[in-house]
Amino acid sequence: MHIGVLALQGDFAEHLAAVARLGAATREVRLPADLNGLDGLIIPGGESTTIGKLAVDFGLIEPLQAFGREKAIWGTCAGAIFLSKDARRQQPLLGLMDITVERNAFGRQVQSFAASLHIPALATVDPGNAPMRVVFIRAPLIEEVSGNAEVLCTLEDGRIVAAQQGCLLATSFHPELSGDDRLHQYFLKLAGGA
Ligand code: GLN
Repeated sequence: MHIGVLALQGDFAEHLAAVARLGAATREVRLPADLNGLDGLIIPGGESTTIGKLAVDFGLIEPLQAFGREKAIWGTCAGAIFLSKDARRQQPLLGLMDITVERNAFGRQVQSFAASLHIPALATVDPGNAPMRVVFIRAPLIEEVSGNAEVLCTLEDGRIVAAQQGCLLATSFHPELSGDDRLHQYFLKLAGGA
């Protein structure tokens, strides 16, 4: 299993470490050719406008869209924004997932928070499925899930923070910062065709 992490900007190193802990081969992706032979790709958190502009500069938009039509992609936070079809403002987007996101929906940097989430789909990798502790850092909200996308997880008040569309995954939060690798495990299963 070969998993790439888009390494233009953001916390790609933490994702690479999580994937390596699970025993899969990792690769930093910066150019279209880096996608060759990968089973899946993670787009990390960071700043979605920066990631988008760099992706345009490096000729990555179309190769990433083609990759996502065939293979698994998981976007966390800024990566989820980049995967969406609508971020309610002009910025480069892959438009692969039928989700509308609201950037910075929880407020400024100082309003960042940790939360324990129940993610029902994780029962497939962990039968006990205890709540997962994750971090929201200037996180987007998934305002609307339409088309073929499905809700994967909500906050207690019902606001959507994770969605799935086939083997595409979007999470508002950062699971790579708390040392709990179950969502990475779930993604590896998707990338493996499960
Ligand atoms: N606020 C950033 C954006 O809108 C996302 C923050 C993050 O990835 N932690 O792109």
